Amino acid sequence: MSWRADVLTLFPAMFPGTLGESLAGRALEERKWSLKVTDMRDFGLGRHRAVDDTPFGGGAGMVLRPDVVDEAIGSVADDRPLIFLTPRGAPLTQAKVRELAEGPGTILVCGRFEGIDQRVIEARQGQEISIGDYVLSGGELPALVLLDAVIRLLPGVMGHAESGTEESFSLPLLEYPHYTRPAEWQGHVVPEVLTSGNHAAIAKWRQGQAVAITQNRRPDLYAQYVATGAAAP
Ligand code: SAH
Repeated sequence: MSWRADVLTLFPAMFPGTLGESLAGRALEERKWSLKVTDMRDFGLGRHRAVDDTPFGGGAGMVLRPDVVDEAIGSVADDRPLIFLTPRGAPLTQAKVRELAEGPGTILVCGRFEGIDQRVIEARQGQEISIGDYVLSGGELPALVLLDAVIRLLPGVMGHAESGTEESFSLPLLEYPHYTRPAEWQGHVVPEVLTSGNHAAIAKWRQGQAVAITQNRRPDLYAQYVATGAAAP
C-alpha cells in the first residue's frame, strides 16, 4: 500500500500543481504515493453551496463553517493523521516531515478566507501545522509544501537513500555548501580540500562548514545541536 494523501480544498485545480512535476510527479505516476483531492464546495449548503459565513463577534472576512468542513472530512477520514494548515499551528519541521513519511499518509485541510471554525478542528482532533510566520491567502500552498517535503523521503523516490539523511536539519545542522564544475569560475576556485580526494578530510571540512554556518545563521538550531552533545570535541 503506497503513501496516501487526501487534500480538502475549495480550489481543487491547484492540485497536483507542482507535485505533478519532477521527483514527486514521477513518483505519483509510479504510484509510490497517491493523491485524492476533495472539493469542499461539494459539501456546501443550499442552492449556492455556501461553505462560509460571517464571524461571530464581528470583524472582517468570512469563516469556513464547521458543519461543511466536518462533512467533507467525514467523506475521507480514516486512521491517517488529520492536519489543518494554519498560521497558528505548530511550525512544520523536518522531524514532523519524517514522522509523516513513515506513516500511512495524511489528510490535509486547506483553509481560506479568515480560517476555519475552531470547533471542527477540536472535534476532529486535528493537528494544526504552519509552514512559517507569514500569512498566505489559503492552505493550498502550505499543503503542497508539506507534501513535497514528505514525498521526497518516501522509499524509492530519491535516487540515493542517504541524500535524505545527510542534508539540512537532520542533525539539526544546516547543510555545508555545494560546488560543481567548473573548478574555477570567474576567478573563484572551489575549496581545495574538495578536489584532494581525501574523503576523511572532506567529511571533516563539510562538518566544520555545517557547524559554522548554523552557528552564524541560526543560533536557535545551533543551541539544539550543542544540546545533542554532538558538538563535543
Ligand atoms: N486570519 C488568519 C489567516 C487566514 S489565511 C490568521 O490571522 O491567522 C487563510 C488560510 O490560509 C488559513 O486558514 C490557512 O489554511 C492558510 N494559511 C495561511 N498562512 C499559512 C501558513 N503560514 N501556514 C499554514 N497555512 C497558512
